[in-house]
Amino acid sequence: METKTYKIAIVGAGPAGYFTAQALQNIQSDDLSIKIDMIERLPTPWGLVRSGVAPDHQKIKTVAKVFEKIAKTDGFRLFANVQVGSDVSLRDLRDQYDVVVLSTGASIGRKLGIVGENLINSLSAAQFVPWYNAHPDFTDVQVDLDTDTAVVIGAGNVAMDVARMLALDPSELEPTDTAEHAMPILRHSKIRRVIICGRRGPEHAAFTAPELRDLSKLTHTDVYIDQDELKAASDRIDQMGEVEKDLKNNLEAMRLIAENEKKGVRRKLEIKFLSAPIEIKGNKKVSEVVFTLNEVKDGKVIATDKTFSIKCGLVVSAIGYDSLEYAGLKIENGRIVNIAGHVEHNLYTTGWAKRGPNGVIGTNKSDSADVVDLIVKNLKEPKSSEGITALLKSGHDVIDQTGWEKINASEVISGELAGKPRIKEVDWKRLISLGTS
Ligand code: NAP
Repeated sequence: METKTYKIAIVGAGPAGYFTAQALQNIQSDDLSIKIDMIERLPTPWGLVRSGVAPDHQKIKTVAKVFEKIAKTDGFRLFANVQVGSDVSLRDLRDQYDVVVLSTGASIGRKLGIVGENLINSLSAAQFVPWYNAHPDFTDVQVDLDTDTAVVIGAGNVAMDVARMLALDPSELEPTDTAEHAMPILRHSKIRRVIICGRRGPEHAAFTAPELRDLSKLTHTDVYIDQDELKAASDRIDQMGEVEKDLKNNLEAMRLIAENEKKGVRRKLEIKFLSAPIEIKGNKKVSEVVFTLNEVKDGKVIATDKTFSIKCGLVVSAIGYDSLEYAGLKIENGRIVNIAGHVEHNLYTTGWAKRGPNGVIGTNKSDSADVVDLIVKNLKEPKSSEGITALLKSGHDVIDQTGWEKINASEVISGELAGKPRIKEVDWKRLISLGTS
């Protein structure tokens, strides 16, 4: 039988993009061949594995080895430093490819929408995380750690990453790939107390158990959760009957933190619940966050008439993300409107752009495979078109896989000399020059 060869463009070189490519590679057969062009706005691939995963969680980053294997498989090409929307239009891309998959994540930090949110040193995790992770667009974020207390709003894993980065002893970050521009600021940080504030109860927290368990391993930081607050949550869920395993594990991990003997060190990380921020106060710069105390009544979280405040010099909100906007596409609940990954005609989406900002890196594997099944089911006759090379202006500096490998090698070599996994290059021009040399 004749082999049909299709051209598929994946926009976004993060975990969702790579796992989509892997699923496409795996689904090939004697009569189906797929050529994949992965298009990435930045000069570097790996998405959140490079600019999201916390530097003290190096093990999670080893998934990049899988990405590189996918990238080295026949029929895969990387086009980094190419922005859909300005360098090429989505419409043209869809004309040139049999299928286009948007795997561009959700990088826009949600807003609290409260008074004082725009004060100096009130940051979104969507700024703070890429700043400490050396994302080239976030080198200028102004971060002032000349304060003893920081408040992190949100009870999810991003809030936990942010809180750890602020609460760790800087010596623990020395052997990591934390941005070179962030290290001096973190080294001189005066922060000794970091308070994570969740607006609902411990039973509603979005943390995952492995991340909670990691907190007990911190050597220079004592972690606190109020035992009475946990006991009340346990009593409430006992009344619910059957309890999900994940929730049980979470509460158990929190109980261990709460009961853990403290080391008596100066660095403290506290997790508070039922605390909904209503105002950030300060004269130009953050000085205090005011909260409403919530309570759980008949399974519902409601506001009480009590308020309290925490004096602090830094607030980071980690309350979720929204997908990037694309002309002509609808965004709802942070994601591109789609049905099981199908947006319209030959346009699909995977990852956070498809699901909204939830799930860990591994979630993308099965999720992308499901979308790929649907893509293949809907394939028609292959187009005879040239692909992205027909669309790029001549002289456009594309970073291809070889170019990326040059950047990668250069960063790893600089890192080796400094006892780090890598030293990330942050300057856009230098990245392009390294990748096109
Ligand atoms: P998330 O898990 O959805 O958590 C967001 C938190 O923000 C929730 O506690 C939410 O509370 C709270 N929130 C939302 N709006 C708020 C508001 N207006 N005021 C106060 N709190 C508000 O999101 P995330 O932390 O950004 O993480 C995104 C995904 O990445 C998650 O699936 C996460 O597990 C994953 N991730 C994983 C790792 C890891 O595996 N190490 C690391 C980082 C991220 P409500 O529940 O009350 O809405």
